[in-house]
Amino acid sequence: MRKNIVAGNWKMNKTLQEGLALATELNEVLAGASLKCDVVIGTPFIHLASVTAAVDTKVVGVAAQNCAAKESGAYTGEVSAAMVKSTGAEYVILGHSERREYYGETSTILNDKVALALANGLTPIYCCGEALEVRNANEQNAFVKTQLDETVFNLSAEDFAKIVIAYEPIWAIGTGVTASTEQAQDMLAYIRGLIVDKFGKEMAENTSILYGGSCNAKNAPELFSQPDIDGGLIGGASLKVADFKAIIDAF
Ligand code: PEP
Repeated sequence: MRKNIVAGNWKMNKTLQEGLALATELNEVLAGASLKCDVVIGTPFIHLASVTAAVDTKVVGVAAQNCAAKESGAYTGEVSAAMVKSTGAEYVILGHSERREYYGETSTILNDKVALALANGLTPIYCCGEALEVRNANEQNAFVKTQLDETVFNLSAEDFAKIVIAYEPIWAIGTGVTASTEQAQDMLAYIRGLIVDKFGKEMAENTSILYGGSCNAKNAPELFSQPDIDGGLIGGASLKVADFKAIIDAF
């Protein structure tokens, strides 16, 4: 049975002290609450060890926002999947459109990152999604299929079973323009259908697929009520406990 997940992506926001305060407050608010979803926060690398020590990771799971495509060695400035795992983090967001666009992450690079994340026991939250021109040309399904065909659809069934997919249309990220409930549901149903074709019905039923892109307390209840939307990847609205908690409560 697949899990509902609300995952925050802090991006490059919050100093260590601010991040610790946010994570600690979130942990306090959620501890003891009966939740209908797993909660994850994606923090900057340097926050990971402090945040995992400050929260109960059974209440607030912790994610890195990236990891290196190499195992170890002379790669100045990089952080390996093993290092992420050693902080107590259990998830890693991979393939975010900002990493693809600003840091040139290709499918080849992402295949290496996914493989290393899995080899080190991290759960990849694997992002896909199209730009506005692609949506305007009504080519979003083919575009997302290619993104998945080139990467996570090449995993073994055993490995694919360990990943979470996040569909994030680029035109909806940080823009305040959310995909309509119908657009989000249609795409997530389409992705689930692709998983049926590739790995079978049982795998598709058990894969958590999230929607991301200007998700907030107002639109989350309708989005999360859809049959194929298993939660959200949340950027801006994950930076304040009240906003993030309201999204968590949307389930
Ligand atoms: C994101 O960057 O993953 C995201 C969904 O951002 P926002 O919620 O701010 O649109």
